[in-house]
Amino acid sequence: MLDEKAVLAALGKVMESDLGRDVVALQMVKDLQVRDSKVSFTLESKSPRFPGDQAIEAACRKAVASLPEVEEVEIRGTFEVTSAPRRDNRELIPEVKNSIAVASGKGGVGKSTVAINLAVTLARMGARVGLLDADIYGPSIPMMAGISGVQSFESEGGKIAPVRACGIKVMSMGFILQEDQPVIWRGPMVHQALRQFLGDVHWGELDYLVLDLPPGTGDIQLTLVQSIPLTGSVITCTPQDVALLDAKKGLRMFQQVNTQILGIVENMSWYECPHCGQRTDLFSHGGAKAAAAALQVPFLGAIPIDVEVRVSSDSGKPYMAGEHDDTPVGKAYLEVARNLTLQIKVQNHRSSQSKVSISIKR
Ligand code: ADP
Repeated sequence: MLDEKAVLAALGKVMESDLGRDVVALQMVKDLQVRDSKVSFTLESKSPRFPGDQAIEAACRKAVASLPEVEEVEIRGTFEVTSAPRRDNRELIPEVKNSIAVASGKGGVGKSTVAINLAVTLARMGARVGLLDADIYGPSIPMMAGISGVQSFESEGGKIAPVRACGIKVMSMGFILQEDQPVIWRGPMVHQALRQFLGDVHWGELDYLVLDLPPGTGDIQLTLVQSIPLTGSVITCTPQDVALLDAKKGLRMFQQVNTQILGIVENMSWYECPHCGQRTDLFSHGGAKAAAAALQVPFLGAIPIDVEVRVSSDSGKPYMAGEHDDTPVGKAYLEVARNLTLQIKVQNHRSSQSKVSISIKR
């Protein structure tokens, strides 16, 4: 007889390949209904669904349809982003499920561009996203998001309301730093200001908070990384020979403070001629991938050079806020964002599974 038990038994054989467990054990099947020969349920993924992510849904459909009495299967796809079990330092931003620091060994590699475009891509996939611009040396997010010059803030629930732009909630050091203020004065302000930007801002419930860190791996960065609760970091670099060196420095810094490396992104990886489609490796493409393999950290993807990326940043509308999903840069960003959410999903799953053992010495 066709009943919920039989359907769940069939679905129990469908594996979620990233997490290595079946969809029933992972509690991904919700609102299951069996009426006569029709089965309907919601399949809740643990990370946003990207274009083309239909494999698991197809596998579920096939498994249920293979039951002899089933004539119709209706699956509603949805997602609920997970977070790691709460740690003490997360108190500062309790409603933020995951916080991602975007870092780079040096300036000018496209760190802020990557940070904002990743944030926008995640928001476009339906996630609730915030972007905190902590780059004191050159807070460029307000310009890139078309909100430069913002100086007064509205309040929400007794806290500062972040500025909404491009589908994300934004807060920036640029809103409080004057352009001619020397960096030496900025340093001491940073720690305090950053904690305020986390704790005193009404971020609301967020799936991902992306932090655009200052470039480099010095004291300021180290202090920042230590004072904020991080799910992990993304290291941005370009493909030149120094990429390996930069990436290594960045990795070492995060390892020093026990922060997970979610992965490396290679930006300005190659150039594709918009007219003939010919691909040119301006620098030695692939350096970051090799570095990631050597350092045993995930490689999230490579983003090509496209003058449109710069033009859209300069005009206050990030590239991924436009209709670009089918361009080489657009596809690359979708892949990097997808891989990033996958890393976070796997990491959160692992930490929710790990048991803490306490041994008492007598
Ligand atoms: P960083 O934050 O590392 O200092 P930015 O994000 O400010 O670097 O980028 C430096 C410059 O490079 C900006 O003008 C930006 O628009 C441009 N840029 C970044 N990525 C690309 C890309 N993939 N293609 C073309 N220009 C890019």
